[in-house]
Amino acid sequence: MENNVVFKDVDQKVSRDLRQAYEHDAISHSYLFVSSDNQVAVATANWLACLFLCEGETDNRPDGTCANCQRVLSSNHPDVFLVEELEKQSLGISLIRPLKEELAKSPVEGSRRFFIINDAQKMTLSASNALLNVLEEPIAPVVTILIANNVNQILPTIISRTQLVNFENTTENIPDSVANLGLSSSELDQLEDTTELEELIQGLYNDLVQHNNHAVLTVKQILDLNISKAAQSFVLAKLQQITDQNLQAGNDLQINQQILSTIFKVNEMRSYNVSFSSCLNYLILAIEF
Ligand SMILES: [Zn+2]
Repeated sequence: MENNVVFKDVDQKVSRDLRQAYEHDAISHSYLFVSSDNQVAVATANWLACLFLCEGETDNRPDGTCANCQRVLSSNHPDVFLVEELEKQSLGISLIRPLKEELAKSPVEGSRRFFIINDAQKMTLSASNALLNVLEEPIAPVVTILIANNVNQILPTIISRTQLVNFENTTENIPDSVANLGLSSSELDQLEDTTELEELIQGLYNDLVQHNNHAVLTVKQILDLNISKAAQSFVLAKLQQITDQNLQAGNDLQINQQILSTIFKVNEMRSYNVSFSSCLNYLILAIEF
């Protein structure tokens, strides 16, 4: 069925899973599509919108050829919003605000509306916070689909409100300690034994929460290990996971939130090739001692 030429970029496995969810009336309110190939992820998001809105024969939906499918695929359907800023480095709050206004309205034609946000990892902190309001609105018949190439640059509070769909299959033989951190498959391949590193990361977290200036020493110990780029990503992702777990458990809300938003900024800095040592030093200085 998905051999249809207009759906040639759609990910076969993901669309199969989504169709199954659709048939069981189990489509989530919000998805986070993590893919290194934006074109495939956007095509799959559009395919899902077509699945809901298609007017074709029941057993041939989405056909990709009816008026509704055509409008979705040419970005002209009133119930499908694609937010993207391909030319810019960041995606600001002004692009997210209209979605909030749209939430107050009913779908124009179909049963559901679709908010698709491409390059969601480019969202600024204020845009991310505005989006949280959208995701927290449980009543509106909206499916929000975030598309990101790097899950580490998405706020944990957003991740926890979405269903994560990983387009690259990376689930085989991954130890528990590195699973669910959102590392890419190539990062996971490069990662060596993380036991020593994990102790230091836990130590750094404890230092930060206690405003202990021992953090300077812990950071030096991490830097002295001279770790790979993949291990650097692991350090930040693990620190984020520990912080998020404490936040969910209701511990030290203020400091944990501060650490999370600082990790978010640090991940942003890393995407601009700021050195790892500058990033870690920024992290500990941003958390006031
Ligand atoms: Zn159709």
